[in-house]
Amino acid sequence: MKAVVLHKKGDLRYEDIPDSQIKDPKEVKVKMLAGGICGSDQHYYTLGNNGSAIVVREPLVIGHEGCGVVEEIGSDVKDVKVGDMVVMRPARPCFHCKFCEKGMYSYCLNMRHLGSAATMPHVQGLFADYVVVHEAQCRVVHDMKPEVGAFAEPLSVAFNGVHSLGDVIGKNVLVMGAGPIGCLCVAAAKACGADRVTAVDIRQQTLDIARKMGADEVCNSKENPDQITAWTADKGHFDCCIEATGNGFAASQAMGMVLPEGVVSQVGMFGAGAGPKDLGAFATKALKWRAVFRFYDEFGPAVNALQNGTVDPLPLLSATFKAADCVKAMEAALSPETMKVELTF
Ligand SMILES: [Zn+2]
Ligand SMILES: [Zn+2]
Repeated sequence: MKAVVLHKKGDLRYEDIPDSQIKDPKEVKVKMLAGGICGSDQHYYTLGNNGSAIVVREPLVIGHEGCGVVEEIGSDVKDVKVGDMVVMRPARPCFHCKFCEKGMYSYCLNMRHLGSAATMPHVQGLFADYVVVHEAQCRVVHDMKPEVGAFAEPLSVAFNGVHSLGDVIGKNVLVMGAGPIGCLCVAAAKACGADRVTAVDIRQQTLDIARKMGADEVCNSKENPDQITAWTADKGHFDCCIEATGNGFAASQAMGMVLPEGVVSQVGMFGAGAGPKDLGAFATKALKWRAVFRFYDEFGPAVNALQNGTVDPLPLLSATFKAADCVKAMEAALSPETMKVELTF
């Protein structure tokens, strides 16, 4: 079968690899339909790593966002059947370590995450004709466009960002950063009952898409810094914030704009040394700053939102390429002009 394999930094190939085979009675073989290129896939391609600890040391099939159709099931699979369309969660916890026993699956000591170089051997990802996953990683969907299903994983991250804010019903929510994750956070906050959602970014193009994703108001902080100043005056303007830039300066700005004792949900990942330098507002307004690491329980509600149309992710889809054109697709994904780029198989 064919797969999209990263050999080393900048060396991405569409090539033959051995067929994926079911080895565990709980496993499912899925024929892939569509997969989204994520920021972490882009990091593997441009840098050969994701942070200093996760380095590509052997050929890696990238990809962890995707959906497909069940082709074959193991002897003990109960929740899916051949022919079902499924979206897949990338995390495969062990279900028996000390964290799994407490239901804290994201912190599993033996985690296998699709398309990740964190372990050796690497866990091969979704950008292949066929993939084998645990049935617990699958969720059956009905009549869903494959390009929509591929958004289940990033939308789950967005739902976790909203989840960590607590109750958002009737709240005035700020989203810093209107990239793909920021825009999905806008949609997730609206889906969870936020009254008003305001998106801030420095790129007009992404702000226009944030509006399509449900933002009531947008602000270009580069062109309109006075608006940021106004929202910062008198101890802030927003009940809470999802920080989706991973930029320390923007995170400081966000803290300035949130009202005292409000929550800032940190969805954006800071690179080494790139955290906020000014934590004044954090301290003097007793803000609650919560990190968001992946997701677990949020996957179900995110898939439901895609299934029932509460969230339409398609304004974010900039381009779709055949897997054979994976290098072109990756270059397109890296362009500042695009939001989400997907592959078809
Ligand atoms: Zn992703
Ligand atoms: Zn575990």
